[in-house]
Amino acid sequence: MARLVVVSNRVADPRKASAGGLAVALAEFLNSTGGIWFGWSGKVVEPAEGGRAGEAQMHSQQAGPVKLVTLDLSREDHDAYYLGYSNGVLWPVCHYRLDLADFEASDIQGYRRVNQLFARQLAPLLQPDDIVWVHDYHLIPLGSELRALGCQQRIGFFLHVPLPPPPMFAAIPGHDWLMKGLCSYDLVGLQSQADHAHFCQYIQGEFHAQSLEGAQWRVFNRTLCAGAYPIGIDVEEFNALAEAPEARDMYERMKREYSRRKLLVGVDRLDYSKGLPHRLKAFRALLQNYPDTHRSATLIQIASPSREDVGAYTDILHELESLCGSINGNYGELDWMPVRYIHRTVARARLPGLYRASQVALVTPLRDGMNLVAKEFVVAQDPEDPGVLVLSRFAGAAEQLKEALLVNPYDSEGTAEAIHLALQMPLEERRERHRALLAVCKRWDVHWWCDTFLEDLGTTHAQESGTPWL
Ligand code: ADP
Repeated sequence: MARLVVVSNRVADPRKASAGGLAVALAEFLNSTGGIWFGWSGKVVEPAEGGRAGEAQMHSQQAGPVKLVTLDLSREDHDAYYLGYSNGVLWPVCHYRLDLADFEASDIQGYRRVNQLFARQLAPLLQPDDIVWVHDYHLIPLGSELRALGCQQRIGFFLHVPLPPPPMFAAIPGHDWLMKGLCSYDLVGLQSQADHAHFCQYIQGEFHAQSLEGAQWRVFNRTLCAGAYPIGIDVEEFNALAEAPEARDMYERMKREYSRRKLLVGVDRLDYSKGLPHRLKAFRALLQNYPDTHRSATLIQIASPSREDVGAYTDILHELESLCGSINGNYGELDWMPVRYIHRTVARARLPGLYRASQVALVTPLRDGMNLVAKEFVVAQDPEDPGVLVLSRFAGAAEQLKEALLVNPYDSEGTAEAIHLALQMPLEERRERHRALLAVCKRWDVHWWCDTFLEDLGTTHAQESGTPWL
């Protein structure tokens, strides 16, 4: 079997328990093939310490048959590549928030510089038969930079975030360069059919790509495959987590604490894509429109801190605090607080217990590539007495999880109605919906995702390595 080389912005140590399902799945594959996991070390070095970007320090560490190779970034590169272009432009636009994109011409230079640096450092480590798998929006041009250095290996790319329709993607300065970069891969994977359709529309409309058999395209004198590979969770790993004492303890405590109440749960990173203020407004509409929920419905909203150095994130933090305060102030009683808002990360080991003790999960992003919390909630339920998933139609997961109660998070009254329906849902209907949802989570789990993508990448024909636009 060919050796696998994984490249992502951050590298997870697969031996650590905190590593999520993705790291576990990739590590499993890497362990069987041997290989390299390559990315940024997470360390920013000041110029005096680290010198110029071209001399970036490389760290290498053996983790079983897998070599973890990481690079430090200079402050200037980090700020332009990571904070600037990746998180200040690509993240908002890919989540349909053109209004939040903040473009600086120098950032795109830094983004390209870091991708070139990654390519220069990675290319000498590659063997001719390696299969290279590049992940996410930070590294879109890495494939073309590797090709420019003569790398002819099979290289695949997976975009974890949504890909917006062409007219919106075209608002990104450098959009055509990014898309040309995607065309230098052998396989491009997207989260959903909708994202895949947007990719096809773009390359057809802008590059006159020709559709070939199956999922293949002819563009820039080379053949490219593209498809939807919805990411899943590691169901076995999550079940094992649910059986462990920490999750059981959490479940018992929550059940005791909320024995006379209906518990709703939200677990997110504090990000504007997650629709947290909209969710709180829907919960307020629930309390306002359905008095039977008073003294009963309690929302635990966990929002872990994320990218706190970015202005849009502090705005949302303040909005959320103010909404929680006003809901509790207006509706709370001496013995009942409707919202419990926790601005912290909850230990992964406790999450299954929290999910299982909840009657309803609110997964209502305004836009999300997939959303794994939705799948984790389903897997954590007791099949005999399962909770109900209220899911945004704008999450990638909505294409698969059709038996959830799908909502439009911009419509707070409509979302409140769905939440009320979820709280009232008869046991038999809950079981039926849960059975269908669980089957999807099991069938399309993270192993399916990893195996299918790599199998498809492995069977793409070795391609012409030319990059005529460079
Ligand atoms: P994103 O990748 O945008 O953060 P996902 O829902 O796809 O969103 O994945 C989030 C992952 O992080 C899930 O595995 C989830 O359990 C975990 N997570 C999210 N928020 C928290 C939190 N507040 N505390 C602990 N874990 C969290």
